[in-house]
Amino acid sequence: MNTAVDQSRVEKLNREPVTEGPVIYWMSRDQRVQDNWALLYAQEMALERRQPLVVIFCLAPEFLGATLRQYRFMLQGLAGVEMKLRELDIGFFLLTGDPGREIIRFCREVRAGALVGDFSPLRINRCWKASVAENLPAPFFEVDAHNIVPCRLASEKQEYAAYTFRPKIKKLLPGYLTDYPPLKPHPHPYPAPAGLPQNERGKGGVTSWQALEKTLNVERTAHELTGYVPGEKAGREAMEQFINAKLPAYAADRNDPSKDGQSNLSPYLHFGQLSPQRLAFEVAKAGTETADAALETSKEEFLEELVVRRELSDNYCFYNEDYDNPAGFPRWARENLEEHKQDPREYLYSRSDFEEARTHDQLWNAAQNEMVVGGKMHGYMRMYWAKKILEWTETPEQAQAYAIYLNDKYSLDGRDPNGYSGIAWSIGGVHDRAWGERPVFGKVRYMSYRGIRSKFNIDAYLARVRALMQQ
Ligand SMILES: Cc1cc2nc3c(=O)[nH]c(=O)nc-3n(C[C@H](O)[C@H](O)[C@H](O)COP(=O)(O)OP(=O)(O)OC[C@H]3O[C@@H](n4cnc5c(N)ncnc54)[C@H](O)[C@@H]3O)c2cc1C
Repeated sequence: MNTAVDQSRVEKLNREPVTEGPVIYWMSRDQRVQDNWALLYAQEMALERRQPLVVIFCLAPEFLGATLRQYRFMLQGLAGVEMKLRELDIGFFLLTGDPGREIIRFCREVRAGALVGDFSPLRINRCWKASVAENLPAPFFEVDAHNIVPCRLASEKQEYAAYTFRPKIKKLLPGYLTDYPPLKPHPHPYPAPAGLPQNERGKGGVTSWQALEKTLNVERTAHELTGYVPGEKAGREAMEQFINAKLPAYAADRNDPSKDGQSNLSPYLHFGQLSPQRLAFEVAKAGTETADAALETSKEEFLEELVVRRELSDNYCFYNEDYDNPAGFPRWARENLEEHKQDPREYLYSRSDFEEARTHDQLWNAAQNEMVVGGKMHGYMRMYWAKKILEWTETPEQAQAYAIYLNDKYSLDGRDPNGYSGIAWSIGGVHDRAWGERPVFGKVRYMSYRGIRSKFNIDAYLARVRALMQQ
């Protein structure tokens, strides 16, 4: 196939040959219409074979503890996807149920010629894909539309740390940090004579999004957030605002939780409403004509986070099946934490103490409240927050389980490889080195309240969180 999509992004997951029939893109991690290599690949295949192009999204009844706050953000984004696809004569179907089963059922029903999926390193997505690949009577291609340098190509093994990964990714990056071609109106529109069903979930082929939300069997206590407007358009606008207004001061402000110095783009990146490649491409281009040294430093630091650290998280989850339990920690940390398991803890809290922000530490409580009320904790506080959970629980296993539970329940960007690796870094020394030995932590890096006090104005942060809670 003559394609604009780099072949290194594409992995064929079964041995079936391409046949006649519509091409189906199973959208999962990359929930956007433009800047999406998987959708572009599916369109190229459909164009070559003069077939309709159909996008499906399968809504699992539950997903890694996601609550209504995350489902709502996602569903509102998907409603925008459906509208945009209709303008381009591309069909959209919302399926519900177990994706491993529903995708097969749908593909059989429409006699799909090929299925294209996007890439995720997480266990649940890989299980669904394995089951689809085994039973699909059509070819199944996976396209890495989330990583700038495709995960499999960036490295063929689990990387020890950023310093081992950085040279590999930096070498490949120039070839991948490119603009995207646009997704075009599709000349073989849906519904087509091929007998595709009308959208099962809505009238006149439009999904009834609000009715759908009522059917979700999810936790509803994490209340709705107003601070983030969902969707591809909003993600793009947030990106532009960040580049124009905040990027120059990013290096100076990003590690100060009393300031709003981060991009706050992680929810859009997590749901694929904003392409990481688009963001990196636009940041790399910003202000190239001005030769502003502060801006250049900010760009460098931002790209280090967005490209090296973020793609290192995908590498960790893809190559380490224990990314969410202590067996995934490096050996030095695992063994050393074990030796310190019996160390007395000065404070011990239950999961609900943590959840309700009832610890003795007002800074920790503020961080927890920032996440519960605002849907996102400042990145610097995330490290302190997770390390204190290790200090105040009975075992590292318990600490990791609590941190994942809370992060995934309240963070809009939760259930992400960045979350699993960030928690494993904080609690289990993943991507870090051994430090001086001390109680409970062993050789895992420690963070103290006193240390934090010398870094930023804690009172200003506490006031910021109080203001957030009063909104
Ligand atoms: C305990 C803990 C839990 C975390 N949980 C999550 C999570 O659930 N989801 C999530 O996306 N990130 C998580 N992170 C990583 C990081 O804190 C967030 O990505 C960042 O705070 C998101 O805010 P931002 O978009 O404003 O970041 P910015 O500073 O503006 O950075 C831009 C982007 O770079 C990437 N990035 C930044 N810092 C990191 C990092 N340390 N590791 C990997 N990628 C990074 C993210 O994609 C981020 O959106 C966690 C970190 C820790 C220590």
